[in-house]
Amino acid sequence: MKGIKAIFHSFRTKVTLVLILSLFFVACLSNFLVYRYALNAQFNQLREKLKVIAQTAALSVDPDLLMKVPLDMGGLDTPQYKIIAEKLMSIKKANHPIKYIYTMAKTDTEGIWQFVVDPVPPTKEELRRGVTSYPGDKYDASRFSEMMKAFNGPPADKELEIDEWGVTLSGYAPIRNKGGEAVAMLGVDIMAEDVYAIHKGIRQRGLFVLILGIIFSVSLGMIISNRITNPVKKLVEGTRHIANGDLKHQVDIAGSDEIGELAVAFNRVVPYQAYQMHFGSIREKNHIPAQEMLETQLTNHAEVEILELARRQRINLKGATFYINIFPCPICAKMLSRTEINGITYSQDHNLGNDIGYKVLKISGKKIKRVVF
Ligand SMILES: [Zn+2]
Repeated sequence: MKGIKAIFHSFRTKVTLVLILSLFFVACLSNFLVYRYALNAQFNQLREKLKVIAQTAALSVDPDLLMKVPLDMGGLDTPQYKIIAEKLMSIKKANHPIKYIYTMAKTDTEGIWQFVVDPVPPTKEELRRGVTSYPGDKYDASRFSEMMKAFNGPPADKELEIDEWGVTLSGYAPIRNKGGEAVAMLGVDIMAEDVYAIHKGIRQRGLFVLILGIIFSVSLGMIISNRITNPVKKLVEGTRHIANGDLKHQVDIAGSDEIGELAVAFNRVVPYQAYQMHFGSIREKNHIPAQEMLETQLTNHAEVEILELARRQRINLKGATFYINIFPCPICAKMLSRTEINGITYSQDHNLGNDIGYKVLKISGKKIKRVVF
């Protein structure tokens, strides 16, 4: 459990997960959009195809012959019915997914139409339910907005429609007489299952592309994540080496980006800092800046050394002038104020300021001069 927690806290895992998830999201989204678009395009193509089939079939039906079919059961046995039925059957056979092809004329009631020729015989199940399409059988077309446009057509259903014969997608076209007047309409239906079967191809392709997208997201995510996190891993390893006392360890990261720059800085700074920390002077070990906590220094300042040298060699400093680059620090200034020197000449200010030293030297009557180069 602790191991799993550690994995999820690792920088590499976080970067990998974020990358994979974002790539995966983009892959899914684009796949979904393409899928929707393809599905839509295919559906519209199917509607166009239905319209074309309906229109072609409508043109092949002789309107005068159709009008001569008696609109009752007796119509079934007339030669005109048989001629048209045969023609419609051959069109149905030539256009594979077409399940029904039929002609209808208007009745005196608006929206209620009647079948003229429907060559597809009713199934036993349809007969049992009393669903027939013999000449003169009524059909309520007012339920379907696209169908209602058939006499001005050709239209096609905008979605799957449900009627007594099942769930279908239909195309319609007017049958016009020589005067151009729409005397009847022709409809072609394909079953919902066939629409789904056509869509199945797209769904399968969509799924295939989605799987490819997932594989692509995971591998690309891992490759990019490795490229990002490998240098960080090397830096972490570098700190471990140095912490373990391997001060000669250098981190090897190519590239001039921020991480490359960090590696150069790391190599330049970290081993020396670590060396000072382990083996440096008291000041280095305790990170005491130069000029601060002077008592921690191993050496004396030059002023002290000179006073001590003069004492040993019995040189009388009475009336002497000290020429020094930097104004004495407070400790040296105090020592100088206790001697018999005349004063000091300096050129640069002390980086902690001259205030204390200046006061001490002045009080003891030393002359202070500054030389500016
Ligand atoms: Zn000093």
